[in-house]
Amino acid sequence: MTFFNAAPHRPIVADHYDVIVVGARAGGASTAMLLARHGLSVLAVDRGRYGSDIMSTHSIAGAGILQLSRWGVLDAVRDAATPVTTHVVFDYGGDRVEIDVPVRGDVDGLYNPRRTVLDPILVDAAVAAGAEVLHGVSMVEVTFDDTGRADGAVLDLGGEFRRVGARFVVGADGARSRVATQVGAELLHRETCGAASIYAYVSGFSDDTILNYYSPGRVVGVIPTNDGAAVVWTGMPADAFAVRARKDVAGAYHAAVSTVPEVAEHVARGPISGLRAFAGTPGFLRRAWGPGWALVGDAGYFKDPVSAHGITDALIGAELVADAIAACLAGDTEHEALGSMQETRDTLAAEMMPAVAGAAALPSDMSDLKRAFRDMSRAMRHEWELIDSRFRVPVLA
Ligand SMILES: Cc1cc2nc3c(=O)[nH]c(=O)nc-3n(C[C@H](O)[C@H](O)[C@H](O)COP(=O)(O)OP(=O)(O)OC[C@H]3O[C@@H](n4cnc5c(N)ncnc54)[C@H](O)[C@@H]3O)c2cc1C
Repeated sequence: MTFFNAAPHRPIVADHYDVIVVGARAGGASTAMLLARHGLSVLAVDRGRYGSDIMSTHSIAGAGILQLSRWGVLDAVRDAATPVTTHVVFDYGGDRVEIDVPVRGDVDGLYNPRRTVLDPILVDAAVAAGAEVLHGVSMVEVTFDDTGRADGAVLDLGGEFRRVGARFVVGADGARSRVATQVGAELLHRETCGAASIYAYVSGFSDDTILNYYSPGRVVGVIPTNDGAAVVWTGMPADAFAVRARKDVAGAYHAAVSTVPEVAEHVARGPISGLRAFAGTPGFLRRAWGPGWALVGDAGYFKDPVSAHGITDALIGAELVADAIAACLAGDTEHEALGSMQETRDTLAAEMMPAVAGAAALPSDMSDLKRAFRDMSRAMRHEWELIDSRFRVPVLA
């Protein structure tokens, strides 16, 4: 693939940057934008195409919306005709709980932008802030100095291999992070199971309401997104997917959706996209930093997609890591700045991960599921407080 420079008037790849960010989506583009706003020289690379799609059901939690607003990019999400959702329905086997999303300042509800909308908005904001962002460029390996400190990366610039130096290398390169492998980021925790998901884009739903229907071992959900479409998805335990659904994804999808007639009637008129399936990966937490490196988003902290929370964590991680690296380059020690970044991330994760694991198990007892979502909602309240207070670590109840 030839590489794409989102800011063609700028020189392509200097010999040295303050920070190289690997991956330029929710985590990486946001980190690059914030670092550049701190006045640092930043190169972000992504092996994918600018504006390309990725598996996601698009839901962003309130704290993430608050960040997009504070960063000045929420209006671009609105301008892309992304609907605002103001109601969330949880149906626990017929026991219905309806929630009005609170309006808080500029955050007038929840937005669930397609990744083909959100990720390029963040890339454009990074470029506008002064970062160089190159697509179609792979990070081949992290390089280290004699002390073992990460000091740059070898990049594949469309067949031309070039070593570029940096004071920090940030891995925002997703759950299978090459950066994490190369720096030997320690695995701190791994869940034992995950849920699988299958989804398609469907028209005809109200664009102001997120719907979730739970039954033992299954969830069917509807999340409004751009272009008059909603993601209609189903989740099931990964082992059930492996045994029954993998061979007949369409059959499994339609069987699940047919259990919710008000959803099935829209799907029956014909999905407006093909089906996408995710077989499930257990969540994990990796060490988030070391000498000359840090991890953002799924690279360091992956949760089951049933949480619909990976984008929000990538945005939060971006702000934590960018502030910490800026503090290091302004004179703080890495132990102070990056250590405190990890402490904050882990404090949030300690509350969120067990709740997500409880939901991802899709238990047959609906009161267990309710409890998991109540815990998740409390964790989200705490992360909102964290963002709202601009990163003073909240006291957890
Ligand atoms: C089925 C499914 C549904 C989901 N639904 C939701 C949801 O509703 N809400 C939500 O918040 N989250 C959801 N998620 C999770 C969410 O998509 C991720 O948490 C989020 O994308 C993480 O962002 P990231 O920037 O950390 O990594 P990613 O989005 O994975 O981006 C990593 C980038 O790094 C690039 N890259 C990788 N290796 C290299 C390399 N060596 N060199 C250069 N570039 C590289 C890749 O090309 C990629 O663009 C879902 C996930 C799945 C699988």
